[in-house]
Amino acid sequence: MTDLLIRGFDGVLIHPEDEGYEAGRSVWNAIVDRRPALIAKCANTADVVAAIRYGRDAGMEIGVRGGGHSFLGLPVVEGGLLLDLSGLATVRVDPGTRRAWVGGGALLGALDIAAQRYGLATTAGNVSHTGVGGLTLGGGTGWLGRQLGLTCDNVASYQLVTADGDVLRVDANNHPNLFWALRGGGGNFGVVTEFEFHLHPVGTQAFVADFYYELKEARTALRAWRDLFADTPRRATPVARVGQWDEFGGRRMASIGFVWVGDPDEGRQLLPSYSGIGRPVAQRARELSYLDLQMGDDDAEQHALRRYCKGLYLREFPDQAIDAFLAPGNEMSARLTLNGGAMADVPPGASAYSHRDALLEFTTSAGWTDAAEDETRVGATRTYAAGLEPFASGSYVNTISDDDATAVRRAYSTADLTRLAAIKRQYDPTNVFHHTLNIRP
Ligand SMILES: Cc1cc2nc3c(=O)[nH]c(=O)nc-3n(C[C@H](O)[C@H](O)[C@H](O)COP(=O)(O)OP(=O)(O)OC[C@H]3O[C@@H](n4cnc5c(N)ncnc54)[C@H](O)[C@@H]3O)c2cc1C
Repeated sequence: MTDLLIRGFDGVLIHPEDEGYEAGRSVWNAIVDRRPALIAKCANTADVVAAIRYGRDAGMEIGVRGGGHSFLGLPVVEGGLLLDLSGLATVRVDPGTRRAWVGGGALLGALDIAAQRYGLATTAGNVSHTGVGGLTLGGGTGWLGRQLGLTCDNVASYQLVTADGDVLRVDANNHPNLFWALRGGGGNFGVVTEFEFHLHPVGTQAFVADFYYELKEARTALRAWRDLFADTPRRATPVARVGQWDEFGGRRMASIGFVWVGDPDEGRQLLPSYSGIGRPVAQRARELSYLDLQMGDDDAEQHALRRYCKGLYLREFPDQAIDAFLAPGNEMSARLTLNGGAMADVPPGASAYSHRDALLEFTTSAGWTDAAEDETRVGATRTYAAGLEPFASGSYVNTISDDDATAVRRAYSTADLTRLAAIKRQYDPTNVFHHTLNIRP
């Protein structure tokens, strides 16, 4: 049967006995250890069509790999077909029209590098080895979000292969329902072989400021940080962290600060409002290129660790939430980033992404190597995040680490989920694309 596929296939087919199989089935989260029956490394859109048709005819479950960074390792299906898009990774930029055409398997770094050649960018996530595909389809947050909206807000059109193998151009005028669903609804509706993005002249510079506090001082500092939100310009993203820093002897501390994308001198003007806050033990302010900002966490977020993450949107940040944020267990870290700005300009219901009104995004994640620690690490992360639950309005579909339907329900409003299910019935009634954070038809 595979022979039939090979005849019309320009990419590479990898079976369990083939060289490249182990690398082909491995993803960012080392907890994921599943063995697909076949890996189809597609080279073009026709390959994607052939692979979907082959998989369906053979009765195989299909997983689609963009950058392989979903916490659940969604693309890797035990005994199924792994449709790998890493061969569709080209990025073409037209500086005149400020557009980028990006392959469905490209990584964020490729998009940023190609666009920055012209001082352009669009909102992309903070780790350059993350896939454009999954990140954009779930929404896409990053240091430009308050300035330019979510990554999905900057998509002009999609080329999409449906469950039936039809190739559609999807934009505001063609298949508008599907266009709505692709802006936050994840990989449920087909395989995107190309994204067309709007780019923006953001320049090539950034500025980052952090103030570090002993935990006992951090409560006061976070209260004052909260008071700055209303007047924060869109080019700044306020950030707070709790964790351990080597330079402070590995003891648990907290930091507050902001990331600025644009002219560093303008960013520096925010410093006085931060430097008056509490009694920091240290402070750091640095200019860097936008590309360095985008790659700054690449090593810390390396591949090959076992991972678990909890993400929550907070609608408010009262003192009790500050206390809960400051209470992670040993070896745990967490981050809060301010939402709003251009992300909140898009009215609720105008795209499938349901959390336009969130005040803050909270994320905590753990990384470890020993499988024997899985239960304790996951348990500790859940317990810590549960402390923030009373203030949460839901979760971001792209940070879901638990494979249960409740998690998906919390990623969308009831109205958005109902509409998503109706669109799913129209484009994928038999739920071919269910190795996703699944919207059931
Ligand atoms: C280190 C790290 C940093 C992160 N930072 C951010 C961040 O700053 N901002 C943010 O918003 N998120 C961030 N995330 C979350 C990220 O958005 C999700 O993990 C996302 O799923 C990654 O997409 P991927 O293509 O790499 O993953 P994959 O595991 O390959 O895919 C995830 C899902 O998307 C589907 N999919 C992927 N590509 C396509 C495609 N072309 N067509 C159809 N379906 C597709 C897959 O089938 C699967 O269901 C981060 C994650 C990690 C691990």
